[in-house]
Order: sequence, then structure tokens, then C-alpha cells
Amino acid sequence: MTIPILSDDLISHVSGLVAAYITTQRNRYIHVALPLSINQRTAMAGFFSSQLLDETRLLVLNEERVDNPDFYPMLQRMGFDNLPDQATMAAVTFADCVVSHGYCTDELLFHELVHVEQYRQLGIPKFADLYLRGFLSGGGYFEIPLERNAYALGELYGRNHSRPFSVADEVGRWISEGRF
Ligand SMILES: [Zn+2]
Repeated sequence: MTIPILSDDLISHVSGLVAAYITTQRNRYIHVALPLSINQRTAMAGFFSSQLLDETRLLVLNEERVDNPDFYPMLQRMGFDNLPDQATMAAVTFADCVVSHGYCTDELLFHELVHVEQYRQLGIPKFADLYLRGFLSGGGYFEIPLERNAYALGELYGRNHSRPFSVADEVGRWISEGRF
């Protein structure tokens, strides 16, 4: 595993590329993605705002896979050998648009909706910047604080589906404590 050291200027540049990738993918998929089903809304209702549940769109891909960003080869030439491969992810979330590779379980949906909430509170540019910086400083995908937050809240949900808590409050608390 290699994480090269990048200059601040280069990090800002790549962070802009990540944000552009997220926006492009979101705009590509949002028109064919669907609102959450009644069952999905019911399962998520105690954890997410009704506005988020109304506005989020979900696309289930069966054959197709989400493309990796076209700046990956540039990063690989710089020495990155552990970039997250979008095709092997169970799902990828682009702002308000969740794209799932195959059937989306409630546990997977929950994890992705935490990302939707993170995007709602941070906006795409800040989300992209924090995601990239988290990857660079942590050494890989699982060390990214935005992921750790989603996995931690997902674990709480997994332990007890019938004990509601506010994901928005939890994400807000992580932001105010500077944990991203
Ligand atoms: Zn995630």
C-alpha cells in the first residue's frame, strides 16, 4: 500500500476533480433513478428526515458498473495503488443519488443514506475535499472519517432496527467536533 505525499496545491486540484466526478455521475444517473419504495421509507423513517427520504433517488444497476474517475490513471502514475475501485463497491452515493450494484438491502441503504446526509450538510465540494483528505491521511478507504461515520451509525442501526436516532444530529455532531 502506497500513499504518496501530495502538495497542498495538488490536493486542492484533485479535490476539485473529485467534486466534478461526483456531480457528473449524479447528473448522469439521477434521471433514471427512482424514489425510495414505501418499504424502504418505512424502514428508514426513524433515522432520516422525511425530506431526505422524499428527495433521495436510488438506482439499482444489474449488469453495468459505476465508472472509476478518469483521473485515476494520473494518480496511479503518481504511485497510488489502493484507490477505491467503484466497480467492487456494493453501492456508491453521488449527493442525493444512490447507485447500487445489485439488490440494495436495508443495511446497505442505511449506509448510503448516511452519505446523503453528509452531502446535505457539507455540500459536494466540501464532501469531496474531506473524502480525499481522509483517504490521504488515513491510508485507505476504511480510514476515511466520512466512511467511519457511516459504518459506525450503520452498526448502531444493525444492532437494533427499532431504536431510532437522528442521523442528521450525529453527522452534525461529527462536523462540529471536527471529526471529518
Ligand atoms: Zn460508504
